[in-house]
Amino acid sequence: MKALCWFGRGDVRVEDVPEPKIVNPHDAIVRVTSTAICGSDLHLYNMFIPAMKEGDVLGHEFMGEVVEVGREVTNLAPGDRVVVPFPISCGSCWYCRNDLWSLCDNTNPNAGLQSPLYGQAVAGIFGYSHLLGGYAGGQAEYVRVPFANVGPLKVDGGLTDDQVLFLTDILPTGYQAADQCEIKPGDVVAVWGAGPVGQFAIRSAALLGAERILVIDRVPSRLQLAEQVPQVITIDYEDEGVYDRLMELTAGRGPDACIDAVGLEAHGLSPDAIYDYVKTRTFMATDRAHVLRQAIHCCRKGGTISVVGVYGGFIDKFPMGALMNKGLTLRAGQAHVHRYMRPLLERIQRGEIDPTVIISHHLPLEDAAHGYEIFRDHKDECTKVVLKTAA
Ligand code: NAD
Ligand code: ZN
Repeated sequence: MKALCWFGRGDVRVEDVPEPKIVNPHDAIVRVTSTAICGSDLHLYNMFIPAMKEGDVLGHEFMGEVVEVGREVTNLAPGDRVVVPFPISCGSCWYCRNDLWSLCDNTNPNAGLQSPLYGQAVAGIFGYSHLLGGYAGGQAEYVRVPFANVGPLKVDGGLTDDQVLFLTDILPTGYQAADQCEIKPGDVVAVWGAGPVGQFAIRSAALLGAERILVIDRVPSRLQLAEQVPQVITIDYEDEGVYDRLMELTAGRGPDACIDAVGLEAHGLSPDAIYDYVKTRTFMATDRAHVLRQAIHCCRKGGTISVVGVYGGFIDKFPMGALMNKGLTLRAGQAHVHRYMRPLLERIQRGEIDPTVIISHHLPLEDAAHGYEIFRDHKDECTKVVLKTAA
């Protein structure tokens, strides 16, 4: 079968690889109909996440048709149309039972690699390095889905792939970003990053009642997409000082909550951003934390910082003094997709949210490498690439 494989920095290729097989009785095999490229994939493409091996199949946002199930799979049958959450969760450990699905204790076979780094290992993720389990991803014609009784959500034919595909990741992620802000009437929420995750964080903040949403990025087409939401005011960080503008828009108080939907590859020209470039380029730091520092600096006293942008390792010059003395709450996490999938599907069915607005490109899987390039470089007004398979 065809699959998109990773070979190194900026080097991904569609190759012929063996088709997946049922390995455990609770596995299913899914024939992928649609799969997307995520900002998280760019961190692999740009070599910010360790423990990748040449030939690894990427992709954690995918949906399709069940073609085979293991003997212990009771919730699914061949022919079912499913969307599959990106974290792999067992459904029975303490974390899964407490609705903390991306923290599952049982799905990272390489926990021994991760525990020394983080203290405990988190859930395995499709197509996301050997640190996160070494699972083959879904930018492929077929994929093996472990714990198939737990993750995949059946969707009927009434909705198109484009309407439901993002339930696998970025829609729940954006929603969790806003949910973590515990928005109250009158709240002002600032969102750094108007990429796909930021777009859904913005739309979720609006659904959850934010009075105004202040969006920071520098890509004109993405800022324009954000402006489709009536509560949004945009700030191009290359034209305006972010702190000054946020203070001006909040009568000197700062936003009630600040969402980091950028993560470890933040751009910037401020001294701390340049410092991060130098340190990461010389392998003395792993992550560029400019946005996180700026969010902490700008947030109002007693406010919330909600981090869904991915960080991998250790950051430098963390403003702990501001976080502590301003009494900020810091919340973070890989999305608990299983928690949000069904209620968000219902919101899509009721027409409260239209996930298709962020799609700029549909490409055949064969053109995935081109998709990575235009998505990373924001070429051709690219906001989100959906890949279609021929299988
Ligand atoms: P993306 O790369 O398309 O978007 C990132 C955006 O941030 C870009 O538009 C970029 O211009 C902007 N940006 C860069 N520097 C900035 C700065 N200094 N100030 C403001 N904006 C800046 O990626 P995406 O798909 O939207 O994903 C965003 C982040 O969310 C990534 O780190 C991704 O890994 C992460 N993510 C996390 C989860 C989760 O479960 N927590 C799930 C999916 C994605
Ligand atoms: Zn993703």
